[in-house]
Amino acid sequence: MSPGDIAFEHAVVPMALVAPEGRLLAVNQALCDLLDRPRDQLVESGLQDITITEDAERLVTVRRRRLIRSDGGVVAALITSTLIEATPHSLEHYLLQVEGLSAREVRSGDQEPLDPITGLPNRALFVDELRSALARASRRAMGLAVFVLDLDHFALVNERLGHEVGDRVLAHVATRLQTHLRLSDTVGRLGAGGWLPGDEFAVVCEDLEDERHAVVLAERFDWVIKGPLVVDDHELSLTASIGVAVAMNRETSPEAVLRTAEAAMWRAKQRGGAGYELFDEAAHNRAVSRLATEDALSRAIERDELRVHYQPILRLDRSSVTGVEALLRWERPESGPVAPAEFIPLAEDSSLIVSIGAWVMREAVRQAHEWRQRFPELGLTVSVNLSGRQLGDPDLHELVSDVLRDTEIEPSALSLEITETVLIEDGDRAWAALKPLKDLGVRLEVDDFGIGYSSLSYLRLFPLDGLKLDRSFVADLGSNDKVEAIVSAVIGLAHALALTVVAEGVETPVELGILGQFGCDFAQGYHWSRPLPPPQFEQWLRDYVSDRTP
Ligand code: C2E
Ligand code: MG
Ligand code: MG
Repeated sequence: MSPGDIAFEHAVVPMALVAPEGRLLAVNQALCDLLDRPRDQLVESGLQDITITEDAERLVTVRRRRLIRSDGGVVAALITSTLIEATPHSLEHYLLQVEGLSAREVRSGDQEPLDPITGLPNRALFVDELRSALARASRRAMGLAVFVLDLDHFALVNERLGHEVGDRVLAHVATRLQTHLRLSDTVGRLGAGGWLPGDEFAVVCEDLEDERHAVVLAERFDWVIKGPLVVDDHELSLTASIGVAVAMNRETSPEAVLRTAEAAMWRAKQRGGAGYELFDEAAHNRAVSRLATEDALSRAIERDELRVHYQPILRLDRSSVTGVEALLRWERPESGPVAPAEFIPLAEDSSLIVSIGAWVMREAVRQAHEWRQRFPELGLTVSVNLSGRQLGDPDLHELVSDVLRDTEIEPSALSLEITETVLIEDGDRAWAALKPLKDLGVRLEVDDFGIGYSSLSYLRLFPLDGLKLDRSFVADLGSNDKVEAIVSAVIGLAHALALTVVAEGVETPVELGILGQFGCDFAQGYHWSRPLPPPQFEQWLRDYVSDRTP
């Protein structure tokens, strides 16, 4: 044996030398072991004899095949085939190297490229395949479509029938998708890990003539998934939300195409599922600008582009300033100041809000502490907005207690505002997060009260100190009797529950008058001042104090 033969024979990777028509010329021990077949049976047999029929017909470029063991068992395998340089007198040969599921122990340390439940490529491998497909598409100047299919309400299947049945359902869906694909198409399973539930499949279809072709395929997948499915005597009728991204002669990365298809899938899901959504150019542009903004935002803290502006909160019975609300601004160099509505949702999606929110908290409390010392007669409180995402952050409690300790500000001078919808949507988690904050002695207030929910019962469930009446109610005061009745009732209810009421967005003396009549405790709004940067706000405070001193 030559050293090369010895290496081939003893390699831990199952390997075969294959003639162009598929005859196995030589196999190594690892392949015999993997398939549990004697060497003389393998040599001289054809690749098609040991491969599941549909797979054998697949193109050479398809790397995933299912091989058959002697006992009929199937090994889902990833195959790399390398063309061995042909000499003038010999035919070209292929060296096949197999990475099978069963070979996993041998190659420990490697990421398993195939999903164990469905035998499909996992996300990483699918992205690889998509990359090659995109390269082929651009070479041939043909289009390509990526479909992301997410089963609707799959969690219910798992819940009702158990995970084992759930897994078999996934395997069935995988087979069904595969049987309805062309040979050149690839299907993968994306889910698993993170927030994704794991019932997400992806398909790439090559040689697309035009975008309408993608629609035809989407309709076909929709129909394929909807067919009744019997698993272990359970009859199921599934639907999927399908997102379609089409790459027509456009240079793009596999990750970008996949993200686009996923975004379209979410739109299909939001529309109620059981159908498909095609990604469109406008959505694409939105996605691109979103990405750019997200990227810039992730550097905003270190680049010192974030600012806190302050708006006074007044006590109505004595018409005196009692507090400030900290409102975030982003001074983006290329586009000027950006309002929170434009970037906070983005920061929440990407969890940037946690670090940004921590920055706001430190900065606002530091600043407020300074003003409390400069204007001791006012006894200013400071209100900081918390996003739902921050509430779920396990480090929030430590952040707040650190800030209180470092500034030595009185805990009751700090008020945390939480939007109503957060309390309602994830009540248990909100309660678990709020209780320890409450124990630190800070105040807790519901922000934007009145827009989220029809039931008020939650007000007594949480350890709250006050509520902030949403501006939409205030704006209707003086012109809408029904709203006035609601506002008056809300204030009464809040007082009955020992909650204070802040009216948001007071702009006119009329609004102010009515609120005073109803016994509202506090208010803020343009009537007194817009949110201001610190130096201007300090000037405003100074003017206010000197106006009041006789
Ligand atoms: P919010 O907490 O309800 O803040 C009140 C919003 O109403 C502020 O908008 C304020 O500028 C505006 N406003 C105050 N008075 C008036 C008025 O008389 N008329 C009108 N039309 N508007 C008035 P802003 O500053 O654009 O903030 C919008 C929202 O962004 C805030 O609503 C809050 O939910 C969020 N936000 C602001 N800063 C932060 C922050 O640091 N963290 C988090 N998580 N959210 C923040
Ligand atoms: Mg607020
Ligand atoms: Mg509000």
